[in-house]
Amino acid sequence: MPAFSELAPGVRRLVAPNPSMMTGPGTNTYLFGNEAVAVIDPGPVIESHLETIQGIADAPIHWILVTHTHPDHSPAASLLAEKTGAELLGMPAPEGQHQDATFKADRVLQDGDELATDEFVIEAVHTPGHASNHLCYRHVGKNWLFTGDHVIDGSTVVIDPPDGNMKHYLQSLQRVKDLQCNALAPGHGEIIDDPDRAIDWIIDHRLERERKVVTALAANPNLTTLELVPHVYKDVDKKLYGWAERSLLAHLLKLEDDGAAKRAAERWVIV
Ligand SMILES: [Zn+2]
Repeated sequence: MPAFSELAPGVRRLVAPNPSMMTGPGTNTYLFGNEAVAVIDPGPVIESHLETIQGIADAPIHWILVTHTHPDHSPAASLLAEKTGAELLGMPAPEGQHQDATFKADRVLQDGDELATDEFVIEAVHTPGHASNHLCYRHVGKNWLFTGDHVIDGSTVVIDPPDGNMKHYLQSLQRVKDLQCNALAPGHGEIIDDPDRAIDWIIDHRLERERKVVTALAANPNLTTLELVPHVYKDVDKKLYGWAERSLLAHLLKLEDDGAAKRAAERWVIV
């Protein structure tokens, strides 16, 4: 992936130098506008990345928006705001680990809120699931959606309860599908030019995993979440069982919410 791309007039993407298994090529930082610039997800605190953002902006940065407060998306926001005087927009960090508590929004956004400038309009779309405070941002003029960690092409994002919620995630995927956007610009990886295909793939993949959970649970009742992992994730490397356990718990909690499973003393059974 190129470190810098001009995706359309006035819409630019910079990849932060934080590649890893969890972040792919790195976190995508997006810039809108030529006269007064809005930045989405400046990423982790990496001084060279902040300098590049300011260099590429080539105009005053007036707004910094974050999709959510995971450590690879928002920690540079307050520092960039300090350097530029920009306004910080997003939702506050929820309690819990893996959250960037340094992020303090000047303007707390709700679903449907708009940032309207002379050059563009951005609409906030609340998409809980991967994180309870997750927002996607729709560039209204282009009808592109900047999806953070909500939709990433061809890969599954972590749903880590209790802040991550599988039921909300699936509902938020449908919500995004219903927007009928022209393209999705994710927080990691390349732009998605067929939103329906990408979202259907994710929904199918999650529901297929859910069916595996139901089958495994019916055949192996009264196991703990961790004990169930090898029965559901036969295809997954043992090294990843820690993450698999979180994801399995997210599925089980959805099934519990649906009335299809229940637990007693941390042991699960089908209903
Ligand atoms: Zn995230």
